[in-house]
Amino acid sequence: MLRRAPLLLVLAACTLTSQQASRSGIHPEDMDPTCKPCTDFWRYVNGGWLDKNPIPSHLASWGTFPVLSEANQERTRTILDAAVSDTSAKPGSNKRKMGDLYASCMNTAAIDQRGISPLQPDFDRIAAISSTKDLTAALAVFQKSARPFGAVNGVVVGPFRLTSGQDPKDPSRIIARIVERDGAGRTGSAIFSLPDRDYYLKTDPKSLETRAAFTDHVARLLQLAGTPAIDAQTQAKTILDFETALAASVMSIAEKRDPEKIYHLMDLAGLRALAPAFDWAQFLREQGLPESTPVNVTEPELLKKVNEQLTAAPLATWKTWLHWRALQIAAPYLAKPVSDEDFHFQRTVLAGVTQPPPRWQTCASIVDRDLSDVLGQAWVEKYFPPEAKRRMIQLVENLRAALRDNLEHSDWMQPATRQSAIRKLDALQIQIGYPDRWRDYSALPIGPNTYYENVRAAWAHGQRYEIARIGKPVDHLDWGMTPPTVNAYSSTADMKVVFPAGILQPPFFDMQADDAANYGAIGAVIGHEIGHQFDDGGSKFDATGALKNWWTPEDRQQFETRTACVVDEFNTLDVGGGLHHNGKQVLGEALGDLGGLAIAWKAYQRTLAGKPAPPAMDGFTADQRFFISFARVWGTQQRAEAERLQLNTNNHPIARYRAIATLQNMPEFHRAFQCKPGDPMVRPLAKQCKLW
Ligand SMILES: [Zn+2]
Repeated sequence: MLRRAPLLLVLAACTLTSQQASRSGIHPEDMDPTCKPCTDFWRYVNGGWLDKNPIPSHLASWGTFPVLSEANQERTRTILDAAVSDTSAKPGSNKRKMGDLYASCMNTAAIDQRGISPLQPDFDRIAAISSTKDLTAALAVFQKSARPFGAVNGVVVGPFRLTSGQDPKDPSRIIARIVERDGAGRTGSAIFSLPDRDYYLKTDPKSLETRAAFTDHVARLLQLAGTPAIDAQTQAKTILDFETALAASVMSIAEKRDPEKIYHLMDLAGLRALAPAFDWAQFLREQGLPESTPVNVTEPELLKKVNEQLTAAPLATWKTWLHWRALQIAAPYLAKPVSDEDFHFQRTVLAGVTQPPPRWQTCASIVDRDLSDVLGQAWVEKYFPPEAKRRMIQLVENLRAALRDNLEHSDWMQPATRQSAIRKLDALQIQIGYPDRWRDYSALPIGPNTYYENVRAAWAHGQRYEIARIGKPVDHLDWGMTPPTVNAYSSTADMKVVFPAGILQPPFFDMQADDAANYGAIGAVIGHEIGHQFDDGGSKFDATGALKNWWTPEDRQQFETRTACVVDEFNTLDVGGGLHHNGKQVLGEALGDLGGLAIAWKAYQRTLAGKPAPPAMDGFTADQRFFISFARVWGTQQRAEAERLQLNTNNHPIARYRAIATLQNMPEFHRAFQCKPGDPMVRPLAKQCKLW
């Protein structure tokens, strides 16, 4: 608890200052006036705060997003503590389930006492495999309790994950999907032990070092679960080799961004042609799906490789790998020596985090992930003011109008393309705060003392929900984020932008602050999400959400030229330590930032039309406050290891470059702070990127 004290002080100070500075919405005391705005605007805006607030030892990053996330977790804790102590909550009620899941996670004595015994049924199932037929049957069973995706990718014991999603060519229906990961925006792979295929394939010294640390970790964890030391070493090597073979067949995260490349709709005959050694009919039956179910196999090469492994790799190799994956996926929910070893590799080796978070935080995030709508409902009742929703709708509509205006006056789009773009913009739905319908958890059993079984039951419940959607029309009320989340998303197939309650707070959204602050912060976030509808992938979907070209060849060429500018910018940006972003991998997010800030700026200017210029506040003009609020959003510092993980596996650029690289292209920013050509915050005119 002592370790938490400085953190609580920070939160208290933050709340206080935001109240005091409520009119301007900015925090001059958090800035670094010794750094010139045209040299490093990110540091200029955030330097004071960052110097005073080192990254807590249990986190990989610290700044605007994580500070608000922790504040939201404190609120979640209040709800969960109340649920645990409410003895009147009926058995089987949502409130009791929420309290029991949290209590079972907090009861570390019971968890430690059980050791790895909760995993024994899975180990037994794997040990009993004695033929390829048995293997297929076991994979079909494991698929039924795959962890659905949340803030991170879903995971499964097996070489592919079965999930569901909109048919990109017919967005009115939900189809089955076979994937390696759910989306590039989420960290982690569904099927690999390491975060991405590149971790197996690259040969630079850092990658070799990580693989050596990985095999040591595998051997240690296997030993903790009862494998003799000598076997554990050999098995670790077998496991790495097995995954390396699969990894070579998988597309890179950047390649997967092309929606055409990950669309291969097929029937049972198609699946059998790709992987004849796998019993697909039995697999579909076990999931409760008819044999006629059409499946989008996002990566056919992966299934071909799975088939090759089914015929070439010894059954013992498969069993070794499955035993390991069952253990790895379960490790965070088992006794302390096992969960500590998992933490050491996943968080210390891969992300540089030295201390686990306080137990209550771990448990609060489990409830948010696995009973999301139960917690979400209680959370918004207590913490989300209805007037925030009205104000947000107004802001989103103002941004939509600004982009419509830009499209109508676009100097590079022909009328046909322009009309299609406007149709798409007009069709976009806005969902704010929380979903209008909550999921039903009545069929989910949760007990007060069985943490591991609770988590597995919640996953199975989530997977059943995913599979039950297949063959049905799209339900636009479904959400892909939980209400307390400090984030937002855009769905190109579902044609909607979603802003959870968690992000609709200062410094993103401040009901007391003037417009410059709100347009610069939440306005740019809204612009970013709308912008995804027109990014490298999103622009390939039409106004109905279908993957269908609506561009003339000339206009598409213009679009590609404009986006190539952003790819080049990120490819050449030195982020320190000789590292770079992969421009194609981060293109969608960088385009969202660039286009989003431009339309937020335009929407803000439209609010000023015909009015006297707003006064200076805290020594800054309104235009300057707009950009200060924008850069404040990206005021987050990150551990070096976590930055490396992000560069390798995430399609979001590192926070400070989301501010810097975006503003380097903004003449309006340069004017507001009188930046000159040659200043680091000004990209040479010929290289400045502009989308809208
Ligand atoms: Zn985004």
